[in-house]
Amino acid sequence: MAESRQIIHIDMDAFYASVEQLDHPDLIGKAVIVGGYPKQRGVVSAASYEARKFGVHSAMPMSQAIRLCPDAVVLPVRMKRYVELSKQIHAIFRQFTPQIEPISLDEAFLDATASLRLFGSAEKIGRAIKDQIKEQLGLIASVGIAANKFLAKLASDLDKPDGYVVITEEDKQQILDPLPVSQIWGVGKVTEKALKSKGINTIKQLRETRTEILRSIFGDQVPYMLRLAQGVDNREVESSREAKSISSEQTFATDITDKDILLDVLLNQVEDVAQRLRIDDSEAKTITLKLRYDDFRTITRSKTFGHPTNITKALSEEAKEVFLKWHKKSAGALRLLGFGASGLQKGGSGQHQLFSEPDQEKQKRLDKAFDAVRGKFGHDALRRGK
Ligand SMILES: [Mg+2]
Repeated sequence: MAESRQIIHIDMDAFYASVEQLDHPDLIGKAVIVGGYPKQRGVVSAASYEARKFGVHSAMPMSQAIRLCPDAVVLPVRMKRYVELSKQIHAIFRQFTPQIEPISLDEAFLDATASLRLFGSAEKIGRAIKDQIKEQLGLIASVGIAANKFLAKLASDLDKPDGYVVITEEDKQQILDPLPVSQIWGVGKVTEKALKSKGINTIKQLRETRTEILRSIFGDQVPYMLRLAQGVDNREVESSREAKSISSEQTFATDITDKDILLDVLLNQVEDVAQRLRIDDSEAKTITLKLRYDDFRTITRSKTFGHPTNITKALSEEAKEVFLKWHKKSAGALRLLGFGASGLQKGGSGQHQLFSEPDQEKQKRLDKAFDAVRGKFGHDALRRGK
């Protein structure tokens, strides 16, 4: 039965910013913002909890972040370092289970069901992972444990930072009921407002609302939303994703409609993913944009180009094309945007037809130079135009 599973959600606290504080101990306790420089229309990739107090959050334009928190130390993204630590975190996961679904560098679902006999309980596994990450790497993870992905993710967020929350089948309804409806996956600002206008503020109220009323808001998604409201979620932990794709995604604190900001966020993600492809010496044949609207709909838009590549410019052009096509047809306020590369092959196997041969060599040299400089001085020591 699906609900007898044991799922662990691990989410590193303010990951990029915490790594910077780890590597620069003088920054501990200070407001640290990691991301692109404001002059280059950069966006915030991560903010330390000290900076979040001022309202700074990821995917916010850096210029706005600095206005909110002028004393913050602003640092560029050092992707290579984060990848390195992410790999060490995954090595800790793998001691307990091979069933790992990475969501981003700092977030993953683990299905611990098959490991229980060996380790006793998911609680013990979650605690051991949290302790090992702290002892071995000096970083703090928030851990959520439950019978499914929705509840495990909710649990890891309930007591963040430095959280460790277990939601059992017995207490799940009690925990869910008083929470605001926005805690349900996919309920964004617009949906929340629509629910509120009908007097539905909490999950309990949603659960007790007549189906006809819910249908006017959720359409044919009513059964799915009601299942979530009851803490039921049958989605599997997809461990195969680990080998098959590299991705980056961000959930926005407030929904974003502005086309330019969304494009900035996307190209930032492409840059990160492209660099991770090169670090792994792989090339991708397919790109996928993941778009979650302010209501609960999540859609993906993919393109496969037959000639695998890890050239930033090639991937950016493709991503931009897919994005603009989506924007033209189905633009809307987004609460999440993600970019993934899949159809991975070993580097050097493909050529990207967007460029002629000499141009391609030039782009490769450019990427190599970028990676070298960024490895030393950080992600935005150099940044190319759009
Ligand atoms: Mg995190």
